[in-house]
Formats: sequence, structure tokens, C-alpha cells
Amino acid sequence: MPPAIRIPPSLLPSDGHFGSGPSKVRPEAVAALAAAAPGYLGTSHRREGVRSVVGWIREGLSSLFSLPDGYEVVLANGGATAFWDVAASCLIEHKSQHLSFGEFSSRFASVAAAAPHLQDPEVIESAPGTHPSPLGKAGVDLYALTHNETSTGVAMPVIRPEGADGESLVAVDATSAAGGLRVDVSQADAYYFAPQKCFASDGGLWLALLSPAAIERAERVGGSGRWVPATLDLRTAITNSRLDQTYNTPALTTLYLLADQIQWMLAGGGLDWAASRSDRSAEHLYGWADSASYASPFVAKPDERSHVVGTIDLDASVDSEQVCRVLRANGIVDTEPYRKLRRNQLRVAMFPAIEPDDVAALTACVDHVVERLS
Ligand SMILES: *Cc1c(COP(=O)(O)O)cnc(C)c1O
Repeated sequence: MPPAIRIPPSLLPSDGHFGSGPSKVRPEAVAALAAAAPGYLGTSHRREGVRSVVGWIREGLSSLFSLPDGYEVVLANGGATAFWDVAASCLIEHKSQHLSFGEFSSRFASVAAAAPHLQDPEVIESAPGTHPSPLGKAGVDLYALTHNETSTGVAMPVIRPEGADGESLVAVDATSAAGGLRVDVSQADAYYFAPQKCFASDGGLWLALLSPAAIERAERVGGSGRWVPATLDLRTAITNSRLDQTYNTPALTTLYLLADQIQWMLAGGGLDWAASRSDRSAEHLYGWADSASYASPFVAKPDERSHVVGTIDLDASVDSEQVCRVLRANGIVDTEPYRKLRRNQLRVAMFPAIEPDDVAALTACVDHVVERLS
């Protein structure tokens, strides 16, 4: 049982969802889905209704990310985790290099290490709360970067590695970054993500912004005689995406909420506008942590602190588990740290859908709870 601390309603945020994925879904998007449901849910994904939503998502993302000439928006089922299998099957030719600095970035490295048709990957690690830098090397044909390491709250710039050979590809896991952090997509060949983080939708899909070089690689590797399961074949995903379809049945709800969120971002002013909302939330959260006597930002270097997922250490006099339990009992959910990090920490999503004022309300609630726990 959490201690019976009732946070005064005047302190509470307007919405208590601060989880890093699945994350807050805007109630307006749910209402729009409910209104559209009779003509949309329960209809064929091979027909105009659903295909127009997929077409809209592809166009909307092209415009949100100002896609360079020749880049394509490709999508399929399976989430970002499935895209690692797709990349190991269709994008890595012989050898990849991975920056490993938390749970998610290390998982893709493990996928590549387990693939019997690939050479052992090169893995450059750094301690949780920091990020390593890629090293351009002969023989590496794909560099795996992570724009935002969701488990630790570290963000890194997306820049092609210096000294990389001209044929190599850059694949960026942008699952929790895409839509909330600024990016120059021309610095990547595959900028991939899932819709349950900044895109405030539900899980189950992967989306990738692919360069002509990535598409060419998928075609060459796919035609090389390597066995690729059909659900992981990037060529199949590309062919279907060009028709505004997916190879097999997608979750129509996920597509609808994603389309609605892209529209919301574009109507607000685009990627820069969406990122500015996260900037404002981050400025508040880290500013609060710097000034609170019992809290401090986990990530030491200010320019590596993520503006979409903040991690705040609490000192030993405050039990973060207890704080999270009290918050949860008051309707503020999913502020727990990433379990495997095992830190006395709060983790706070600051995706664009989350109101910056709600992040301010959250820290006031934490202050209120901590004062009463001690
Ligand atoms: C959430 C997350 C994933 C996993 O996404 P799924 O859609 O659940 O497969 C991968 N990478 C990062 C950086 C994430 O934040």
C-alpha cells in the first residue's frame, strides 16, 4: 500500500501519462477515431478508406521530415524490434558497427551478433548516462546509431561517421526521438521508429525513412540468394508501401492515431514546433532537478540530456519507488525508471503530446509528495 498522500487537485497535471511508451495519446485523437470508426474500423486495408490513411501517413511524414529527393517512407508490422531483424536480414551486408549505451541500442547489437550469415559486429560501448561516438572503418557496411536511448535518457546527434566508406549505410533507431528531436534525415539511410512514443499512437508498426542507397542495398541483398523470411523482406515492405498498403493486416487504430498525430504536428508548425514543446518541458524538468535539494539529472553532460525522455536521480534519503507509488495512486502513471538500470530514479517522458505545463505540474507534485514522505 502506498502511503495515503492525497495530492491537492490544484497541483495535478491535466493529464497524468508520463510513460515512455506506450505514451500519452491525445484525447482529441481518440475522439476523432471514435467519430470516424463506423466507416473506418472493421474495413479492409486493401480498400480506399484505410489506404488513404496510409497514404496520408506517408505524405505527412515526408513533409514533417522534409525528406530529401529519392527517400521513401516504408512501413510494416512488428514495431522497431522487428526492424532490427529486417536490418540484419536485408541491410547489413557483412558487418555492422553498433553504438551500445543502454538497453535498446544493445539489443540491435545482439541481433546482429546472433545472425549466422553476418560477421561479428563491432560494438562500441559506453556507460549508461553517456554515449559513444562512431568510428569510420573499412569493412563496416552499416553503422547503427540510436538518436535517443530511451532506457537512460541520453540523446545523440545524427551525423554520418567521419571516415566511413562511401558505400556504407547509417541506420538510426529513432523510436523515441522521431517527431520530438530535430534531425537532418540526409545524415541517415534508414531513420526508423514505432508510433507509440512521440507519435502518440499505439504500438505494432515500424516505419522507416529510407534513402535510395538503403533501397538499393535491400534489393541487392534480397537478390543475393540469402534466405529472408517474407515478413522481414524489406523489398516486400517497399513494394506494399508504394501501394499505401502493408504486406499483412495492420492495426487500423494504430494507423489512425498516427495519422492524427502527424496532422497535429504539421498544423502546429511542423517538426521544429513539436521539438520546441519538448524543449520547453526539458528546460523545466532539468532546471527543477538542478535546483531541488534531493534531485539531480542522471545524464552528466547537459548537451547529452534528452529533451524527450528525462531521467532524474533522487538522493538516498528519498525512495523513488515510494514516490512513484504515491504518484500512481493519484493518477500520475509510469514515472518509474527503466527496470534494468536499477537506479533510485524517476523517468519522465516529454514527448510533444505532453503539455509542458503538465511537466511543471508533475515536478510540483513530486515536491509535494517528497515533503510529506520525509
Ligand atoms: C521503444 C523502443 C524500441 C522498441 O520498440 P517496439 O516498437 O516495442 O519494438 C526500440 N528502440 C528504442 C530506442 C525504443 O525507445
